[in-house]
Amino acid sequence: MDIFTEKLTLKTHLSKLKAQNKTIGFIPTMGALHKGHLSLIKKAQKKNDIVVVSIFVNPTQFDKAEDLINYPKTLENDIQLLQSVACNVLFHPSVKEVYGKNTVSEKFNFDGLEHEMEGKYRDGHFDGVGTVVKTLFEIVNPDTAYFGQKDFQQLQIIKKMVKQNRLPLKVKGCKIFREKNGLAMSSRNARLSKEHRAAATFIYKTLKKTKKRFHTKSVNEICDWVTNQFKNHPLLQLEYFTIADEKTLKTIEIKESDKKYRAFIAVFAGEIRLIDNIPLR
Ligand code: AMP
Repeated sequence: MDIFTEKLTLKTHLSKLKAQNKTIGFIPTMGALHKGHLSLIKKAQKKNDIVVVSIFVNPTQFDKAEDLINYPKTLENDIQLLQSVACNVLFHPSVKEVYGKNTVSEKFNFDGLEHEMEGKYRDGHFDGVGTVVKTLFEIVNPDTAYFGQKDFQQLQIIKKMVKQNRLPLKVKGCKIFREKNGLAMSSRNARLSKEHRAAATFIYKTLKKTKKRFHTKSVNEICDWVTNQFKNHPLLQLEYFTIADEKTLKTIEIKESDKKYRAFIAVFAGEIRLIDNIPLR
């Protein structure tokens, strides 16, 4: 695997490959890699000649300084994992290399997608995500970029950004990779205590029950039921639960037969904030 920390040397390397008509699949990550990340890499490998992974803990997408400081960083292990799945290129730049002198976000308008769900709870988060992903796309210039449905709102926002700016690449969404017990894999899981990790399986169990109920119950009934499930939970604190239209990400109250819906949830397990979602149709 070739490892680059400078954008210019990476660009030169990739343009040589492009000149040989090699296709490039790209997976941006923040590291602390797990099987969820590896599932994106495997998907990219099936469709591309070269797979590029970036590891960059993007400061501008964190609204809380301690969350950025505490974000797990496991570079040596990440490199070993990437080598074990025969990833071709790792891009691991410094903050200065990506942002230059000013570590600030561009301001985006994603047609309102940025104001829903995570946007309500994480100030400036999607401006940070948009800024770094746009910059990484310019550097890597991939044919296809792969994003997890785990961060479904992020996936829809990146698709919107690509469309709005007519960027010359495809964006593919990949299924959520879960532990055997249903917990969605996340770099943040490494920071869970044993008790919180066990308790966190309740999140997906609740989402699966939500999916069942969606056929027979009203949206309001389901939301009340979920709120009650978490009300007296000793280890988990519900931040939000919502049923939203997959396209607009707007919360719904009444189901319409021709629309696709998803349930979205954010929960605190102690200090650790976990998100998950499930398609309802
Ligand atoms: P992160 O390193 O958390 O920024 O994630 C990098 C990419 O991996 C994003 O597109 C995530 O949505 C995706 N990802 C993270 N966890 C999972 C998972 N459990 N299943 C599928 N994709 C995931």
